Amino acid sequence: MSSEFPAATIIGYPRIGPRRELKKAVESYWAGTSTAADLERTTRELRLASYTRLTALGLGGTTSAIPASFSLYDQVLDTAVTFGAVPARFQDLYDGGRLGLDAYFTLARGDTGRQPLEMTKWFDTNYHYLVPEIGPDTPFTLANDWTLRQVTEAAEQGITVRPTLIGPVTFLLLSKAADEAPAGFNPLGRLDDLLPLYADLLGRLAAAGAEWVQLEEPALVVDQTVPAADVAGAVDTAYRFLTAATERPAVLVTTQYGSLGELLPVLAATGLDALHLDLFKGDLPSAADLAALGTTTLVAGVVDGHNIWKTDLAAVAGTLATLSGAAARVRVATSTSLQHVPHDVDDEPQLDAELRSWLAFADQKVAEVVTLSRLVDGLPAGSIDEEVSAASAILASRAAAAGVRRPEVRDRLAALTPSDFTRATYEERVAAQHAALRLPVLPTTTIGSFPQTAEVRSARARFHRGDLTAEQYTLLMREEIARVIALQEDLGFDVLVHGEPERNDMVQYFAENLDGFEVTVHGWVQSYGSRCTRPSILWGDVSRPRAITVLWAEYAQSLTDKPVKGMLTGPVTILAWSFVRDDQPLGETANQVALALRDEVADLESAGIRVIQVDEPALRELLPLRGALQADYLAWSVNSFRLATAGAAPATQIHTHLCYSEFGAVIDAIDGLDADVTSIEAARSRMEVVTDLQAQGFGRGVGPGVYDIHSPRIPTEDEMAELVEKAVRHVPARQVWVNPDCGLKTRGYAETTESLRNLVGAAARVREQL
Ligand code: GLN
Ligand code: ZN
Repeated sequence: MSSEFPAATIIGYPRIGPRRELKKAVESYWAGTSTAADLERTTRELRLASYTRLTALGLGGTTSAIPASFSLYDQVLDTAVTFGAVPARFQDLYDGGRLGLDAYFTLARGDTGRQPLEMTKWFDTNYHYLVPEIGPDTPFTLANDWTLRQVTEAAEQGITVRPTLIGPVTFLLLSKAADEAPAGFNPLGRLDDLLPLYADLLGRLAAAGAEWVQLEEPALVVDQTVPAADVAGAVDTAYRFLTAATERPAVLVTTQYGSLGELLPVLAATGLDALHLDLFKGDLPSAADLAALGTTTLVAGVVDGHNIWKTDLAAVAGTLATLSGAAARVRVATSTSLQHVPHDVDDEPQLDAELRSWLAFADQKVAEVVTLSRLVDGLPAGSIDEEVSAASAILASRAAAAGVRRPEVRDRLAALTPSDFTRATYEERVAAQHAALRLPVLPTTTIGSFPQTAEVRSARARFHRGDLTAEQYTLLMREEIARVIALQEDLGFDVLVHGEPERNDMVQYFAENLDGFEVTVHGWVQSYGSRCTRPSILWGDVSRPRAITVLWAEYAQSLTDKPVKGMLTGPVTILAWSFVRDDQPLGETANQVALALRDEVADLESAGIRVIQVDEPALRELLPLRGALQADYLAWSVNSFRLATAGAAPATQIHTHLCYSEFGAVIDAIDGLDADVTSIEAARSRMEVVTDLQAQGFGRGVGPGVYDIHSPRIPTEDEMAELVEKAVRHVPARQVWVNPDCGLKTRGYAETTESLRNLVGAAARVREQL
């Protein structure tokens, strides 16, 4: 317990592998083309390779500097399975008191008989975790030993890793009350039942050779619905209990994604061994708070784990000097896990050399942490003057580079007036749209993408490689669009989509067609489970050199009399799912993107497109974690959407689509977007959103998703009709749309066709009952 915390560390490392090896291994196991033993072999190689890499980068093999942050699917699910905390509908998955590999994947993905755990955004990132469900009687038991096995597996290679778990308070705060729990039940009430299991596991980890354990408590940087005094009480109870154990590793508590605020002294007083603070997103603690740390080691999260720009080493060296004067022992770390950034800039030799010199992916960030640790590692501290001046020179080159600030983009923004952000009244628009579109009540539509078949992917890849001419490629895409239109006509949809076959990704597609962006080849990051995204890099001023989507939309519309939706990605989502320049306020960057989209809206209208959807699935995700910062965010994000859409004529129906649950906090903002129709995820959160909308008195069109596309399960017509009935009980029927809860691109055609047939049937059935 007395071992010193290493001078340099990271909070977590990408676990998908440099070439998405984890995705491939897991998906092949699901498909039945490899065995559990194959999966174990591949993932073991991945874990060991990352330890070797981190050691080579300077994190050291025997000092607990390397976190065992691997997960097969999700770290919150790992913790739930470790403590056996699974809801009643999965209790039969226990096999001899244990939850194994298949049980784990069933919790994540569901099966024909049952819904998987709900999935939601992990803090203000584009990662999603599975939401544990806890009731008064949910049994807690050590049901899985993967955490322990990561320690022994590394020890066999002579490496002392630092096992990681979600801390008990965050685990319960992130959980939702199980279905069978009585009204008002709060999972945090189960803390006393859970703590002995954590203590038990900590004992076992120590026995296996772990010197440090990392307990992650990021929920402490967020304003919770639970009263602050209860959270403080839980923190105090939990960490006094865990540090009181005699057989345990030293305890590091991490608090990534923001500031601890008033909980810092509470945590410090519990006697934990080290406390990690996010000093990139969060504030520098006061002198009094630093003094309160006493002998607790301060692990300073100074290197941003969430974006890809090189660190301003001069600024951070200053921060470390301040901290070293005020706290007993200071160590250097990333602000968050590096799971949010790609592996290695050196994997992207095709990038412009100057742009590349501005970037730091996971491996470069590890090197930065190691460099900075020379400032705190023993006395006298080592000099990093050379690295500091190199970093400062790079920052200066970035500020002065061509394309970073372009007068023509800046002048156009400066000339905007309030009328550029406002459409005609909703009443006027409804009348004009009714005359133009003549839709039935409970109109049916989809969110945009249709399944991306192997043929579609291969056509895009061949075109990209130059193996297809533009003409050949266009022909193949048109065939696909024609198939998708015919299918929707056959199924009886009211508002059709072209299916987005030409898009690899809803953000990257626009990034590739706008100035100011660059895309990577291997820059994948995990979104959820085996799903990865490749964020683009928004580095300069944004503008649209030419129309982007118009030819595809126009072609699709030429095939049918039903309206086809033009499909654009909104400014907030483009920012949220890219790595965005950090040298100006996000709102300014968002308005640059909005102006480019506004031109696209105008071109779609001129081409005869009567319905245009501007997707903002990420609106909720960028919401600042602390209430005090939310108003400003909502103002600029809503404004940028309005700037993108307000040029549309009253008769043009503007749709938007928002993903994922927990919309309570942004419902005013959804209203502020002033879209004519808003489709929202709801199937997996069982329509909670409609009660929020009702409470708000939401007056425009709304399509709460009735088909959960995140799971291969085919929902029945009955089941979806019930959800539509629920929607019309809460919201007037004339406002309700019937649609899936997200795009279909990750699904296969067989299950999709059947599900969509059931969906149209469900809408027809409820329509008749009205
Ligand atoms: N239009 C997009 C699609 O259907 C929306 C995807 C999303 O919300 N993530 O794929
Ligand atoms: Zn969606």
